[in-house]
Amino acid sequence: MQTAHAHRPSANRNQPEFDAVVVGAGFSGLYMLHRLRQLGVTTRVYEAGGGVGGTWYWNRYPGARCDSESWVYCYSFSDEILQEWTWTERYPSQPEIERYLNYVADRLDLRRDIQFNTRVTAAAFDEATGRWLITTDAGEQVWATYFITAVGCLSADNLPAFKGLETFQGEWYHTGRWPQEGIDFTGKRVGLIGTGATGIQVAPVVAEQAEHLWVFQRTPNYAIPAHNRPLDPEFIRQLKASYGEVWEIVRRSAAGLPIEPVERSALAVSPEEQRQIYEAAWQKGGFYFLFETFNDILVNPEANETAAAFIRSKIRETVRDPEVAELLCPSDHPYGTKRPPLEHGYYEAFNRDNVTLVDVRKSPIEEITPTGIRTTDGEYPLDIIIFATGFDALTGPLTRIDIRGRGGVALAEKWVSGPRNYLGVAVHGFPNMFTITGPLSPSVLTNMPAAISQHVEWIADCIGYLRQHGYRGIEATADAEDRWVAHANEAAEQTLYPRAKSWYIGANVPGKPRVFMVYVGGLQNYRARCQEIASKGYEGFSLTPEAALAVGAG
Ligand code: NAP
Repeated sequence: MQTAHAHRPSANRNQPEFDAVVVGAGFSGLYMLHRLRQLGVTTRVYEAGGGVGGTWYWNRYPGARCDSESWVYCYSFSDEILQEWTWTERYPSQPEIERYLNYVADRLDLRRDIQFNTRVTAAAFDEATGRWLITTDAGEQVWATYFITAVGCLSADNLPAFKGLETFQGEWYHTGRWPQEGIDFTGKRVGLIGTGATGIQVAPVVAEQAEHLWVFQRTPNYAIPAHNRPLDPEFIRQLKASYGEVWEIVRRSAAGLPIEPVERSALAVSPEEQRQIYEAAWQKGGFYFLFETFNDILVNPEANETAAAFIRSKIRETVRDPEVAELLCPSDHPYGTKRPPLEHGYYEAFNRDNVTLVDVRKSPIEEITPTGIRTTDGEYPLDIIIFATGFDALTGPLTRIDIRGRGGVALAEKWVSGPRNYLGVAVHGFPNMFTITGPLSPSVLTNMPAAISQHVEWIADCIGYLRQHGYRGIEATADAEDRWVAHANEAAEQTLYPRAKSWYIGANVPGKPRVFMVYVGGLQNYRARCQEIASKGYEGFSLTPEAALAVGAG
């Protein structure tokens, strides 16, 4: 949409001005602030929560734990921090990650530039001056040359519109907005809706406390054992002595994990060898089952079925009641095409007398009543309902902010048929806006801190380049954006990912366009492409010299 006159957001023109405004103080916002400071860029970070952590501030539900191993679920940029900080478990719990991010914030003295308890509600680009006007929920407005979103991929919670929820007399919670003070489930009848990575973590922990837990399952998932364990001092000593090599492997890998690629098809080995390989990965636990077994699980349906069948055989071995075991066996999507959860006693929980699986595929939830949940099979009386129903992923955290680019065009309007951007980091029509781990970047298909670090460093280098070369503005061209969207779509089409009704494709939110929103080409390849683009003077971007803007603003 073109307007005759440059679009100007309305504001008092004497608002405070920063070089950069960053939205969010999780893994990405904290590191972005640190890098911007090193460049001498004045920065204000806004954070909706009362502390640092982002995802790890809000998702403090029982059992919340990271599915990446602690020693790589962290920053790699500072040797001091790597040596000073000591992880205690293979998979870090939410409190430990929150402590880590607080430690980093203190260590780098980041808090003085972060305004907590403040949500950014709007950001509008002023064409005359090439600046962004950012508005918060406190009614505050500030100007910034660079508008950087560090809002995470899974921060806009998805609460399905269940009829009657407002009438429920008990307590209810969404896992992504868990109360700071925690919840005591002792003696309570608890209903858990959702069996994604979150619900699978919640169930065994709540089962240990609650009088009874009903798990309302619509789609069973393929969960792999995590085999969490405390880290012993010798492991830590060796790790700290060899961190350089660990990060080298991470940087070479597609998923940002210390896993070397395998060059072996599941269909090229005998059934016995195949089972041995799966069994070894099962015993090891974690994402190794997906990434260290065979290289065609995510691209070949037949190969995928061998992994799926193995997992089903494990579920049947673990769950004593054969009917319950069958209900827990997934078959409607290929393994790995929904984010594969790790489990800490999930399947065993169904062997407890106080846990019941409710099949809401067969008997859907009709409504929430004042006293519980009613499915087409009858009512389940409950004291507490937990919604582990996920997120309006990837685009939701951005489109829930009223972001307007050139011509006053809203990002939500531009993305009405799915996200469109260049490299997942820049959007045509939205100059000087950078989206850390935005849609169509590798993000959630990787170990997040690895993807975040790559984006933050690339953005910082880009801003450094602009300042050094006298540019005030940078904007993805329409052509580069079209090519990136086409490339990202093509890459996804070559995999099995689009075959699942997952949040990767927007299928979990009614009315959301079905577009695969993540770049599947691998973090290592993506990093190389981003470096190449930068080395060519930011190919696919148009750069605005300071002088040109000064004239335009006249
Ligand atoms: P999710 O994967 O979207 O799962 C939501 C669950 O809620 C699904 O089982 C879904 O069923 C169910 N659901 C949604 N609406 C429903 C309805 N109206 N009726 C009945 N069931 C309904 O969300 P999540 O488990 O919160 O996980 C989201 C992502 O967060 C994960 O995939 C992962 O990337 C991340 N995560 C990471 C970690 C970690 O590493 N620490 C831990 C947890 C989560 P359907 O499948 O039938 O739609």
